[in-house]
Amino acid sequence: MEKNIALLRGDGIGPEIVDSAVKVLEVVAEKFGHTFNFMPYLIGGAAIDETGNPLPQETIDGCLAADSVLLGAVGGPKWDTMPANLRPEKGLLGIRAAMGLYTNLRPAKLYPALKDECPLRADIVAQGFDLMMVRELTGGIYFGERGRREGKHGPEAYDTEAYSVMEVERIARAAFESARKRRKNVISIDKANVLETSRLWRETIHRIAEEYPDVTCTDMLVDNAAMQLVRRPSQFDVVVTSNMFGDILSDEASQITGSIGMLPSASLGATNRGLYEPIHGSAPDIAGQNKANPIATILSAAMMLRYAFDMMDEADCIEKAVDAVLNDGIRTADIVGSSGIAPIGCVEMTEEVIKRL
Ligand code: NAD
Repeated sequence: MEKNIALLRGDGIGPEIVDSAVKVLEVVAEKFGHTFNFMPYLIGGAAIDETGNPLPQETIDGCLAADSVLLGAVGGPKWDTMPANLRPEKGLLGIRAAMGLYTNLRPAKLYPALKDECPLRADIVAQGFDLMMVRELTGGIYFGERGRREGKHGPEAYDTEAYSVMEVERIARAAFESARKRRKNVISIDKANVLETSRLWRETIHRIAEEYPDVTCTDMLVDNAAMQLVRRPSQFDVVVTSNMFGDILSDEASQITGSIGMLPSASLGATNRGLYEPIHGSAPDIAGQNKANPIATILSAAMMLRYAFDMMDEADCIEKAVDAVLNDGIRTADIVGSSGIAPIGCVEMTEEVIKRL
């Protein structure tokens, strides 16, 4: 297969970690007989410096024309004092909107080799966990009507949550499709005992579940879910939830892995073409020092192969190479913990992953 991949290196450690993922993808392409064409475009602070715009039109056009997009990270202190419409983050929100990305997939998995970094109790850690958060990204309370007004007891503020059946249907399908690629279990999280949007959410999820008889589906209230995530995370396979609940729970889920520098993500729209990126930021404190952990970006590239290109064996190959590196006790500085292992750099970690592909 031949695929065109747009590269948004961005700022800080972005260029280093994206280049690592490209090296891994090049080896995978050779091994499996594919051709990947990489097209770099500017975004974030780097784009501001060169064009005065965090998201040049050329970048939007390039991403829309590509088969998929791989992003590093944007932002840094250099641009922190710029006006809001000229901030690097504007580039990120802009490209998500331009590509119509309404699904955010965030896997959170405990690597046995990194179990000492997990903040949970030893008996919970021993059970392990490997879950996929599916968060609705463009609806709900973050996009509803909001404002200030004069209330019965003086000045007050309000935010409103609205979800259409169409918005819930499409995120439900994304969750069930994702479950089909995993352990075929979906837990839908809502607050249907209180919120009308949650009741519509639940009804719609149940209706779409009928289209996926091979996937089991249950509901869980969000307050219980927050507790269950730290009590018994092994019970979760795919979790689907609204924008705000997903924002909070996906951070909780990533924290319990104990290794945020390892976690990939995908943002998808009507097609799985999507935008793939690590969940961490541009780490300006270590930029340009060959200290960044490239694994989150390498695993984001693996997600791209699995979701955008249906290349399951190729994705497995990358994920197994990462497992092997960790099992062999190879670490970048962020995942050394209390192990006493001497850390290696971004370039060397990339070479170690490639050796094991
Ligand atoms: P950050 O994730 O960049 O860094 C937090 C800490 O984790 C830092 O100590 C950093 O060195 C470390 N770290 C992060 N990724 C690492 C990696 N791959 N390897 C080793 N260490 C790693 O978060 P921050 O410091 O809050 O933000 C820095 C900048 O990144 C800000 O400008 C912020 O707006 C931006 N940001 C961008 C994104 C994105 O592009 N998606 C996301 C979050 C933050």
